[in-house]
Amino acid sequence: MKAPSLPNLENYVPKDTIFVEPAENSHMGLSVPEVIFTYGNKKTHIKKMPYIFPNLIKAIFNAVISYRSLRKNPAQAQKKADKVFFQNLENYARELGCTNIGYTEVSREYIFKNKKILFKYAIVLPMNMNKDKTNQAPSINAGKEVWRTYAKLGSIVNHIARFMRERGYKAEAGPAVGGETNYPLLAQKAGLGYIGKHGMLISKGNGPSQRIAVVYTDIENLPFTDSSNYDWIPSFCEKCNRCVSQCPAQAIYKETKLLADSSHQHIDYTKCAIPFSKSMGCSVCIKECTFFKSDYDKIRKQVI
Ligand code: SF4
Ligand code: SF4
Repeated sequence: MKAPSLPNLENYVPKDTIFVEPAENSHMGLSVPEVIFTYGNKKTHIKKMPYIFPNLIKAIFNAVISYRSLRKNPAQAQKKADKVFFQNLENYARELGCTNIGYTEVSREYIFKNKKILFKYAIVLPMNMNKDKTNQAPSINAGKEVWRTYAKLGSIVNHIARFMRERGYKAEAGPAVGGETNYPLLAQKAGLGYIGKHGMLISKGNGPSQRIAVVYTDIENLPFTDSSNYDWIPSFCEKCNRCVSQCPAQAIYKETKLLADSSHQHIDYTKCAIPFSKSMGCSVCIKECTFFKSDYDKIRKQVI
């Protein structure tokens, strides 16, 4: 079974579009479907695919809408917004189901080598996955929850992009699946959490049980949220290593790899793809993470 082909931004914008390009040292990005279809177990795909198929299709459909709707960006857009706009945007994002909202400038290193974006600022939007479902990992119920979140978040970023356009601003909804940038790194830069040893963003609240998407814009006065509030987490991970020992594929590196471009590689995704494809979402490292099992503030108090 072949990986479903994901839409490509460049096919939806005029030929003379000026993009924000990746940095020299950016690395290639593979989407979740590409990883599981390339490296996962082919037999289980056929058996398990029907469980997640509706949400996989919704996620791809939402990505097509993200790109198609770019033509609705106002030609003469405003580049400054006031407090009321941001307050209304945040209220709307929470109403739709986002658990937090962060604002940051995109570092070009975070744009995948094979991708481009239209605008250099990002509104970062995490959404929690249902804790009870994730607690059932590894199971098809936990896997279904991963894909429900991808599909829902893909629709949310489209609603937010439309909200912004209707108020005179340009927006590019970054799809929840198959996006152009490294979302956990953007969320970390935006002060929304820190990437744990398992490569997922850990935040106060649901720990690593979340998915992330982004809306790019050229609004220059975003209320940037960059902070280092969470940067104590890596030293905690160094002592914990629970996800490393619990991963059924031994895919999580005990020593996170530092790549030539100074980015970090947390897991061997070719190994992860096997259990991931068995339940269409594995999630054992999320369920076993200390920040999922225990309260963030309690852990922090013990450490700091
Ligand atoms: S999703 Fe599963 S296989 Fe992949 S790293 Fe996490 S625990 Fe390991
Ligand atoms: S299980 Fe432990 S080592 Fe792994 S990400 Fe969570 S806190 Fe870090």
